[in-house]
Amino acid sequence: MTDSDDTSAALAGFDAASNRLIIDLGALADNWRTMDKLSGTARAAAILKANAYGIGIEPAAETLYAAGARDFFVANAEEGAELRPLVPDGRIYILAGMWPGNEHLFFDNGLVPIINSEEQLAFFMSALSERGDHPCVLHVDTGMNRLGLSMKEALMLANDPARPASFSPILVMSHLACADDQAHPLNRRQLESFRAVTAAFEGVESSLANSAGIHLGSEYHFDMTRPGIAVYGGEAVNGAPNMMKPVVTSEARILQIRDVRTGDTASYGASAQFARDSRVAIVAIGYADGYHRSVSGGGVALRQATPSGAYGFLHGHKVAHLGRVTMDLSLFDVTDLPVNAARPGDYIELFGENIAIDDVARAGGTIGYEMLTSLGQRYDRAYIEAE
Ligand SMILES: *Cc1c(COP(=O)(O)O)cnc(C)c1O
Repeated sequence: MTDSDDTSAALAGFDAASNRLIIDLGALADNWRTMDKLSGTARAAAILKANAYGIGIEPAAETLYAAGARDFFVANAEEGAELRPLVPDGRIYILAGMWPGNEHLFFDNGLVPIINSEEQLAFFMSALSERGDHPCVLHVDTGMNRLGLSMKEALMLANDPARPASFSPILVMSHLACADDQAHPLNRRQLESFRAVTAAFEGVESSLANSAGIHLGSEYHFDMTRPGIAVYGGEAVNGAPNMMKPVVTSEARILQIRDVRTGDTASYGASAQFARDSRVAIVAIGYADGYHRSVSGGGVALRQATPSGAYGFLHGHKVAHLGRVTMDLSLFDVTDLPVNAARPGDYIELFGENIAIDDVARAGGTIGYEMLTSLGQRYDRAYIEAE
């Protein structure tokens, strides 16, 4: 977070009682431009599923459209219908595809279904015969074994002389399973398979890479890339420095400061144990806010492998989480701050500029994606406008 006038203006509207998310739309736009540039001759799409990775689909869509994005991916047709008025001339692709009963959402909102199976293909073709021409995308599975036609099905379809002339996908796509691990041999195997698909569908645009896939190099870029997490400031590649700007800063309020004695315990299960006289900040953040119980400072049985939990950041100091995260409250050790530095009403940064979201995620055995998409409803949200 910066101390610019924009920031102060954005913060001025906060409800004094609440925790807050500060969402930097300038950083969002910069990150998208960075990924677009890294995509070389390919153009970058924008991924807006799950309420734009939790940050809010409306501001995210408007910002990324203004930055130049014209291709938008969401998970389902309901998300697509919500997005349509925000990007009137954008292409909106629906990852889950079309099925009986939701086809009207596609035709009414001009949404592009992604065809993930032969059943979806058959249904789309029958819907087309009633509704007339409509674009679609063909998703081919090259090794993830999640969604998509198998290689065999896709190649048969491409070479089928009886293939309906009206079946003309505007894009063929696939999804990488291991791109976050650059040395994984499956990356290259998927690339080779996808090349066979694009050769079979000659003249059709193609797309393979997510954020991590973009970092695998230009061979993986094809015509369009699909960067999600990197645009939201998260880490894409395991073990590589994160060059993206943080987009989301999460701050929670201190409700109370307690003094405890050597030998005391705190939180459920007496999970925080004090080996010295300590000062503890009781903070209004819990697992109901997406601050997962697994990031606890201790007392979580399944997480013995990573005994130290998450850290917060307060008045220039990293402060350790203590004991178990509870539904609405968390404890942080503020003993090493100057006396009276931590006060009720102060905000602790949970992640953002000073604490990387991926470090908190790692402490809890999860990923930044999950931290963002489970933030919950109890925050005031302030958006710092892009330039
Ligand atoms: C979510 C998603 C993306 C974006 O992936 P990131 O890892 O967030 O960059 C790209 N493609 C598909 C098919 C997706 O489901």
